[in-house]
Amino acid sequence: MKRVYNFAAGPATLPVEVLQQAADEMLDYHGTGESVMEMSHRSPEFQAIIDQAEADIRTLMGIPDNYKVLFLQGGGSTQFAMVPLNLMKNRVADYIITGNWAKKAAEEAEKYGKVNRIASSADRNFTYIPDCSDLPVDSDADYVYICENNTIYGTKYKKLPNTKGKILVSDISSCFLSEPMDVTNYGMVFGGVQKNVGPAGVTIAIIREDLIRDDVLPGTPTMLKYKTHADKGSLYNTPPCYNIYICGLVFQYLLAHGGLAGAKERNVAKAKLLYGYLDQSRLFHPTVTDPDSRSLMNVPFVTGNADLDKKFCAEAKEAGLINLKGHRTVGGMRASIYNAMTIEGVQALVNFCEKFEKENA
Ligand SMILES: *Cc1c(COP(=O)(O)O)cnc(C)c1O
Repeated sequence: MKRVYNFAAGPATLPVEVLQQAADEMLDYHGTGESVMEMSHRSPEFQAIIDQAEADIRTLMGIPDNYKVLFLQGGGSTQFAMVPLNLMKNRVADYIITGNWAKKAAEEAEKYGKVNRIASSADRNFTYIPDCSDLPVDSDADYVYICENNTIYGTKYKKLPNTKGKILVSDISSCFLSEPMDVTNYGMVFGGVQKNVGPAGVTIAIIREDLIRDDVLPGTPTMLKYKTHADKGSLYNTPPCYNIYICGLVFQYLLAHGGLAGAKERNVAKAKLLYGYLDQSRLFHPTVTDPDSRSLMNVPFVTGNADLDKKFCAEAKEAGLINLKGHRTVGGMRASIYNAMTIEGVQALVNFCEKFEKENA
């Protein structure tokens, strides 16, 4: 069997142990004689799967009882609309623009109310996180919105913004379960799971109960109301059953490997290894130079020569290191080193970079 090192930003690599377990259970899940893929979402077997998944993510993240965990569909992008539809009571919200995903979220929210862009790092192509200690938060704002880990630009908030008492809403798609976090600092967080948690098709939203209301904006579709899903334990309609099951296996895998503290330790070691090489390389340059803004998950780097970047990606692919091409707005390369990327994979990348650097000096 051939396995490559996959540095894709998402859908992304998953733990081999999880894929192996899913393969073992594919045809006959726990003696039921059927695959989870074929199972009724109303069956006791599936109810047990989703209950266990919820219990395990609660344990992993230390989610308090006054927060609901919702398994939704529509990707992170559907949350760009659901957030304002459900939370924009005064029709005002403050957005901090640290990249494409925050920008898109702000543009979507603008359909429903007034959006204040209270900070931005656009002036230096989103290569840093702005100082958010004293922002002009609107006294009427229903929430302050951030994208916590910027998948494309490779930045992450190390300190949350001072929201001056407003609730914080955070898109954690690309740093989900990468390190411990205190959910009580937020009104809600959400993430598409295909970056760091599971297969594309599930979006997990974690929302404080008092923010789940019936009085959403007029015309909000039933399926886009958090309350619809919260009232039915994420089983209002057919959920992405199989994908929820895989997420559950990933949660169990993480619990068995030191929880989120263990994940952080591994992720810090990987990022240190890669950045340690990039910071001293004469050929490759990391685009995020401020260590306080660096993401542990996405590491963009360039040579400054587009042809050489292209050659690098092509030769890396030949060597079994795939999906290293950077986003078009940054160029160059991006290594996404999510939870399931092993330190061996990062070492293989560094070794390959060293070899390429010598050959192309
Ligand atoms: C990928 C990504 C999204 C969009 O996710 P979809 O599931 O494709 O809609 C949103 N936010 C962040 C931070 C992302 O990385």
